[in-house]
Amino acid sequence: HNIVRVAGVARTFTMGTQVVQALRGVDLTIKAGEYLSIMGPSGSGKSTLFNMIGGLDKPSSGKVFIDEVDIAQLDAYELAWLRNRKIGYIFQTFNLIQVMTALENVTLPMTFAGASQDEATEKGLELLGLVGLRERHAHRPQELSGGQQQRVAIARSLANTPAIILADEPTGNLDLTTGEEIITLLKRLSSERGVTVISATHDYKMLNVSDRVVWIRDGRIDKIEERSELDITV
Ligand code: ADP
Ligand code: ADP
Repeated sequence: HNIVRVAGVARTFTMGTQVVQALRGVDLTIKAGEYLSIMGPSGSGKSTLFNMIGGLDKPSSGKVFIDEVDIAQLDAYELAWLRNRKIGYIFQTFNLIQVMTALENVTLPMTFAGASQDEATEKGLELLGLVGLRERHAHRPQELSGGQQQRVAIARSLANTPAIILADEPTGNLDLTTGEEIITLLKRLSSERGVTVISATHDYKMLNVSDRVVWIRDGRIDKIEERSELDITV
């Protein structure tokens, strides 16, 4: 089924007299279980589109549907539910809470969602195991390498078994090899768990694992390529 549908979405930012058209009418349908990359130069609108799909920002016009529900119609409680349960977020800068251990970072969304401490700890350790960091559960972010921090962020994104993972430049702060490991991990999670992965990225290595690539330029979709059409040279 169509898990995400973006219909005629435009987003304009006004700063004083300056008007920036970050998105200029984007139509995009994403199927459940798909691994989709949004590629494009800096400033092309990738993050803005990411924020629209994730319910982190609102379109100036047009609509975003998640499971055919118009997210503009959600009340504050339903929107919070969407953000904490339905979607897991991964960011370039990891966005881990520095004063918390890896395990506490992963369990936080579960306790927010009403899980007991025991339940959250058990599942948190299991998720850290899934990303290869169970032994590191007591470490704080600054005691972990960049790649390890991103693994913790990935474990956290899975905390409430989301249907969708939104990843904004997930390899942007990592070296080439570490970035590849993160891409491989995301791909494995998407195939093993059937999670829909939507990634905004500059990283051409991401093309190797994507089912489809959306090329965006100047706030518009330039073209959409299926995996079979991609000329993969990386
Ligand atoms: P990308 O992620 O592809 O680098 P963005 O979506 O961040 O692109 O930005 C698209 C355009 O919208 C850019 O011109 C950017 O400066 C502008 N923009 C993004 N967010 C804001 C904002 N909060 N306020 C003003 N302009 C913004
Ligand atoms: P990378 O080469 O990926 O940047 P680092 O050089 O930061 O990794 O770290 C190498 C190893 O040392 C990693 O396994 C990391 O977890 C560990 N490490 C780095 N800094 C600390 C620290 N302050 N305390 C504990 N372990 C650390």
